[in-house]
Amino acid sequence: METKNVKAFGAAASDAPLKEMNIERRKITPKDIEIEILFCGVCHSDLHTAHNDWGGTIYPVVPGHEIVGKVTKVGNDVTKLKVGDLAAVGCIVDSCRECDSCKHDLEQYCLNGFTGTYNAPDKHLGIQTFGGYSEKIVVDEHFVLKVPKNLNLPAVAPLLCAGITTWSPLRHWNVGKGSKLAVVGLGGLGHMAIKLAKGLGAEVTLFSRTPGKTQDAKDLGADEVIISTDAEQMKSVQGKFDLIIDTVPYVHDVNPYVSTLNINGTLVLVGYLGDLNPMLNSVPMILGRKSVAGSVIGGIAETQELLDFCGKHNIVSEIEIIKIQDINTAYERMLKSDVRYRFVIDMASLKK
Ligand code: NAP
Ligand code: ZN
Repeated sequence: METKNVKAFGAAASDAPLKEMNIERRKITPKDIEIEILFCGVCHSDLHTAHNDWGGTIYPVVPGHEIVGKVTKVGNDVTKLKVGDLAAVGCIVDSCRECDSCKHDLEQYCLNGFTGTYNAPDKHLGIQTFGGYSEKIVVDEHFVLKVPKNLNLPAVAPLLCAGITTWSPLRHWNVGKGSKLAVVGLGGLGHMAIKLAKGLGAEVTLFSRTPGKTQDAKDLGADEVIISTDAEQMKSVQGKFDLIIDTVPYVHDVNPYVSTLNINGTLVLVGYLGDLNPMLNSVPMILGRKSVAGSVIGGIAETQELLDFCGKHNIVSEIEIIKIQDINTAYERMLKSDVRYRFVIDMASLKK
């Protein structure tokens, strides 16, 4: 298959800083769209992957799955977008399109495994996929999203992962007017969860370890902030929530949050991947018919639904724009929870 060389920023090893490199992109096939990447959000998953926190990273790796840009080429059979249109790509660039999940617009649960935007086997080139920290990307039109024109473009980028990852559980568990929702952790995912849940009409509480974020959380729309290390504050919300979205990236005790669920309530883990420690205590779950669940990103149709909702309600991410050359410092700051609330790379900096 014909390829072309593009500039990118990636890591050559788990302990190596990200640096400029060249990667291959396929030349467009009839169903493909080529996008010039204008902005790319920085997700904590980029950092986990670059550092090989989950195992399985194949180097070199080029992270980035919160991509917005402009269409530069379209294949002959493309109908979704035309050259010059705004376009977005999230965490999925391919799936089997035939299994029961794919047929039900749940590509994120493709029974044959979806193709992640980075560090996944690329069906076209036989190498790993490379993400959005790059000049251009080529994606089948099915996995390309339309961007509402009224929104600030760099602040749209985080909707493609932080947004959809919180939107999908909000929709699955029918959050709306009258729902009592809590969010654990005020980072990229957490701040989008607050904005989206407020947009849906829910009452929203934030659980945070960081007292300095209280005013921000309120400005983002939270009705209440509970400092999770304060036993008195934790006691005040026992049995309260219908749904809790837990975005904490590292192992932590979820039992104190389970006890803040109402009867039939659900705590949905979207952050940490792995064994829980300490283990989950089944007593409050059994006695209160409570659930602990998980959720991964969202399907393509659901992502478009989110983007359209954000266009209608004027919802975007709170961002700090960085140059690609500052990505290693951005990762260090992310590890210290020092980001309010999403870094977005201005990809024009890669051309310099
Ligand atoms: P982030 O911006 O770094 O935010 C995480 C927040 O969690 C922090 O701001 C902090 O909030 C809290 N936190 C961090 N370390 C903690 C610790 N050790 N104990 C307790 N709280 C801690 O990260 P993000 O981009 O939102 O991503 C969050 C997680 O979701 C990552 O693990 C990422 O890989 C994962 N993710 C999952 C999906 C999915 O589909 N399920 C999609 C995207 C990302 P406070 O200061 O308020 O406590
Ligand atoms: Zn992500």
